Amino acid sequence: MALANQKGGVGKTTTTINLATALAASGLRVLVVDCDPQGNASTGLGIDRKAREISTYQVLIGDNDAAEAILPTCVPGLMIMPSASALSGAEIELVELEQRTHRLANALATLDDFDFILIDCPPSLGLLTVNALVAADQVIVPLQAEFFALEGLSQLLGTIERVRGKLNPRLKLLGIVLTMVDRRNRLSENVAEDVRSVMGAKVFDTMIPRNVRLSEAPSHGLPALLYDHRCAGSEAYVALAREMLGRTRTAIPVEAI
Ligand code: ADP
Ligand code: MG
Repeated sequence: MALANQKGGVGKTTTTINLATALAASGLRVLVVDCDPQGNASTGLGIDRKAREISTYQVLIGDNDAAEAILPTCVPGLMIMPSASALSGAEIELVELEQRTHRLANALATLDDFDFILIDCPPSLGLLTVNALVAADQVIVPLQAEFFALEGLSQLLGTIERVRGKLNPRLKLLGIVLTMVDRRNRLSENVAEDVRSVMGAKVFDTMIPRNVRLSEAPSHGLPALLYDHRCAGSEAYVALAREMLGRTRTAIPVEAI
């Protein structure tokens, strides 16, 4: 599953970390693949920079197998393929390599011990995101509930269509999740309504509220679900995990944790 949006700061990483944690907490075996050179998912899951010697970069370039890059996290059942800053060069280096759009798909195909693999994409539609979309069966698009939310969405949907048409016929848009929704702010509410009127049932019923605990948790190297499992943000991500499993028709209930 790829979490993609070429805009930065829309909640891709926060959604990846907390959705993955909710799935792992329900007993599923989950892998987060950090495909962003900034490595926020790795930091947010408590992975020390020194522990990132073998990262998504080496796997994409072909220096290491996927299994060699995988590390455990503080969450039982949740593993991570960390990112390293070298990944910022991969967009250019990949161009020269054969199978440049399929390198992540080929690497992840060697793994068979996960129920879900969540790929946290960088804020661009370059080769890293294309690799994630080729490797994925489904895409989740986090959309920040603010003015301009819909701007850029048609470009992203166009990229998903092209990848489906030319590179990966399995690819489906699983859903759009509204993030940082502020119920006290009329603009945020209006944007949420607009997105629903344009994208209809593609929008998850679950909305992620703006919640300070969600933004504090990464500085402690913890998912919000471990930092404060009762906060509104954590509850929303458990609800999202449940709704997501319903959409993928996975018959495993996510118990509230
Ligand atoms: P992206 O991966 O799309 O760049 P992030 O998940 O890193 O976005 O989120 C951008 C910033 O907003 C981060 O500082 C994050 O902690 C914060 N943030 C994300 N979601 C929420 C939320 N629901 N409430 C409050 N802050 C949030
Ligand atoms: Mg991010």
